Amino acid sequence: MQLSRTGQQLSSHSGIMQLMEDLGKALTVHPNMRMLGGGNPAQVPQMVAEWRNQLQQLLDHGDDVDRMLGNYDPPQGNPRFLHSLADYLRRNCQWDVTEANLAVVPGGQAAFFLLFNMLAGEREDGSLAKIMLPLIPEYIGYRDQCLAEDAFVTVRPKVELQDAHRFKYRIDLPALERRLDDSIAAICFSRPTNPSGNVLTSDEVERLQSIAAARHIPLIVDNAYGNPFPGAIFADHADLVWNDQMIFSLSLSKLGLPGTRTGIVVAKPEITRALTQAMAIMGLANGNVGQRLVTPLLEDNRLNDLVRNYLRPFYANKSQRAEAVIRQAFGDQFDYRIHVSEGAFFLWLWFPRLKCTSLELYQRLKDRDVLVVPGEYFFFGDGAVEQDGDWTHQRQCVRLTFSQNDQIVKEAVEIIADEVKKMSDE
Ligand code: PLP
Repeated sequence: MQLSRTGQQLSSHSGIMQLMEDLGKALTVHPNMRMLGGGNPAQVPQMVAEWRNQLQQLLDHGDDVDRMLGNYDPPQGNPRFLHSLADYLRRNCQWDVTEANLAVVPGGQAAFFLLFNMLAGEREDGSLAKIMLPLIPEYIGYRDQCLAEDAFVTVRPKVELQDAHRFKYRIDLPALERRLDDSIAAICFSRPTNPSGNVLTSDEVERLQSIAAARHIPLIVDNAYGNPFPGAIFADHADLVWNDQMIFSLSLSKLGLPGTRTGIVVAKPEITRALTQAMAIMGLANGNVGQRLVTPLLEDNRLNDLVRNYLRPFYANKSQRAEAVIRQAFGDQFDYRIHVSEGAFFLWLWFPRLKCTSLELYQRLKDRDVLVVPGEYFFFGDGAVEQDGDWTHQRQCVRLTFSQNDQIVKEAVEIIADEVKKMSDE
């Protein structure tokens, strides 16, 4: 079989594929695997109860469930869902949006595939349009999404050491400005960032907004873990202002509904219309189960209470407990660093004295029934390219999720500490 260039690209080995395969296998083939690898949300009891309750209510009103299962929604999304979400965003985030600013897509992942390929790639004049990621490490799932080759311009961060065992990435603005040119079609970042749990500061966001505005290009913010839901954002600089030069991606996944594959793009109508057209071509309509389950919670605003009272505290506590376990397992004398945990479901660990790469460390840990994600994958685009082996940092980090139960996190962290110590210079 001869595949087209697009076919080859889509079917080639990707970091996200390995991650999703490991995740799947860990749950089936290796039931003893300590799974600190994936991005699955935790089973937060209040959310689990809420979704069960919504499903039950649908079943109790048989017509509703029949309508849900038996109909295609319009490709933009379910009209009642779009209406209640626009209200919700105006009420809770003060974003000046209507239904026309919303487009439902089959998950945030699909939103980025569509957005990146609509914005980046060959232009009519033959030049290559690119996406700028202002700070790597950045979400592994973007890495293979641009069908055009070399379409990510990525900028290495400044590494700010905060105390003996903590650090924070900051955007290197002068470096970023040197990289700006007419090829940049959009700037994009996740906030909180997967993998590091970094939340770009308000200053950084404002600066990016003004750069994007001056160049008349969109600024894309991936809120998969952030606001307005699931709200796993612990930093006090969480505000995000919407205007029609911004594109926000939201998702129901981290509310506990990844199986429903529901994402929402908030953007100016020109963009949401284009996405809706693409959706119709690609998939006719979106899955409607997630939209249907969430709509009542948007209408009575209960989702906002669940986010504030359960989800955010749940993940903030998990993050603190995981950090305490790490501090204990590594001890004060050992040279390790944790990125400040400002949001998302992960801790991002940096081992400056590691003798092997994080990929090798990942293999060694897998052999001991611990699954993490090697840091290498999150450094990509031209910013990650080696110049004389100069940026060892990108091979010295791993990501682990703390959304698993505490005992599993503790066991896994103890094994990680043991293995990292064995594989580090004194
Ligand atoms: N963006 C980020 C930063 C993510 O971590 C993920 C998934 O883990 C996604 C987007 C895509 O999620 P989904 O397609 O489930 O909405």
